[in-house]
Amino acid sequence: MRVLVTGGAGYIGSVVAARLLAEGHEVIVVDDLSTGHADAVPRGATFHQMSIAGLDPVLGDWAVDAVLHFAAKSLVGESVTDPSLYWRNNVVGTVALLESMRAHGVPRIVFSSSAATYGQSEQQPIREDAPPRPGSPYGATKLAIDLALTDYAHAYGLAATSLRYFNVAGALMDPGGQSFGERHAVETHLVPNALRAAAGDGPALSLFGTDYPTPDGTCIRDYIHVVDLADAHLLALRAGAEGEHQVVNLGSGSGSSVREVLSTAGEVTGREVPVIEAARRSGDPAVLVASNEYAQSLLGWRPAQDLTAMVSDAWRFEQEVRGQA
Ligand code: UDP
Repeated sequence: MRVLVTGGAGYIGSVVAARLLAEGHEVIVVDDLSTGHADAVPRGATFHQMSIAGLDPVLGDWAVDAVLHFAAKSLVGESVTDPSLYWRNNVVGTVALLESMRAHGVPRIVFSSSAATYGQSEQQPIREDAPPRPGSPYGATKLAIDLALTDYAHAYGLAATSLRYFNVAGALMDPGGQSFGERHAVETHLVPNALRAAAGDGPALSLFGTDYPTPDGTCIRDYIHVVDLADAHLLALRAGAEGEHQVVNLGSGSGSSVREVLSTAGEVTGREVPVIEAARRSGDPAVLVASNEYAQSLLGWRPAQDLTAMVSDAWRFEQEVRGQA
């Protein structure tokens, strides 16, 4: 297939683009580089630095079979202080992308949705039928796009799949000489922050909240390896049917607490992660664990790699790649 990957210079988009190329697909990457890195675009992909809102004049010429749509603003805290940026970039930008796809007859989209669409859910593990109650403008914009995809699929025959990611970690360490991992200028995620703290390459890890109603008092999340996540995209590309919008959770079905992640980081690095116990981070639910039964039945997908593998690959990426950047 010829596939357009929006946001293919970012963390997850670049990993998926690399896996697509490895599977023999033709890949066109579009990224405005507002948060991505040009050198994260995998070799072998065609790269255009541009916004998703500007695709109309070129999309017809590219004749792509499908769009994998990762381009988005994705910082929960920033979305609270600057929701305009999120509604314009994520929602208005995606509607422009969908209009360009309609105009040029692109039949298929796989969208990066998020567990943030559920917010604080009483149902654990969370199935796709749990009521969406996003706790931030970021989650609200992901949900708004999911709703738009349902309407576009039904009315215009689009084949659409929303993949709702839980907590993604790890890296794709490529023996071919190019590796892909988390390189956010503003890093909010637990695994890279813990590893940087362990390496002495960042401040001590602020542990946000030790008084949650969980066995060790810290939040529980469902972590999946970015390469497992990428595999789900490749399966979703083939699974989508015209006129249907599928919403699929991607998680492992079991959770790890923040303290468990920190202890894994300690084991992997051989160093204790320096920790400062801090107040809860606003908007963080105590527990977020995915049911992946639908992913198994629809896509035949289940994650293959555990937390130790994720943290080990993220650590190798920190050491070998980020250290030299
Ligand atoms: N967390 C933390 N310190 C950090 C980053 C994250 O204690 O520097 C906690 C956060 O409160 C949450 C979990 O780690 O309970 C995962 O957070 P992350 O930002 O990685 O992902 P999220 O669950 O927000 O998507």
